[in-house]
Amino acid sequence: MINYKIICDKCKKEKQINNYILMDSNNKPIISTICSNCHKKIINPKIEISEKICIKCNKTKIISEFNKSKETKDCLNSWCKSCHKEYKKQYTQLNKEYLNEYKRKKGYTTYAYQKKYYDKKKKLKEQEKNKIIINISQVN
Ligand SMILES: [Zn+2]
Ligand SMILES: [Zn+2]
Repeated sequence: MINYKIICDKCKKEKQINNYILMDSNNKPIISTICSNCHKKIINPKIEISEKICIKCNKTKIISEFNKSKETKDCLNSWCKSCHKEYKKQYTQLNKEYLNEYKRKKGYTTYAYQKKYYDKKKKLKEQEKNKIIINISQVN
């Protein structure tokens, strides 16, 4: 392929010639005066959607109100930015509460566990002491 550049009639951008090769109705390659990108937009104007309905709030919002996503067909999130923000806020709040609860519970458990452990140790020590006393008394 020759390294040749053509200025597109539509977007006025200079692009490599391979961006202008299109297939005609007989499936023969033809060189167009507009680039393949612009051509796609003419054939499929639906690609250029400017609005989208948020599945969370059911509101029609402009595309810029949606974050980009790799998981959806239209490469945009199903939720609008404000819904995402709200969700994140709620999630953080919930998480915070959960973490606090977890910490509180764990702290309590740790304290209870430690108390149990020390009590057990104390008991063992006392038992050990008694054993020694018994041993001594047996010797005597
Ligand atoms: Zn173009
Ligand atoms: Zn929304």
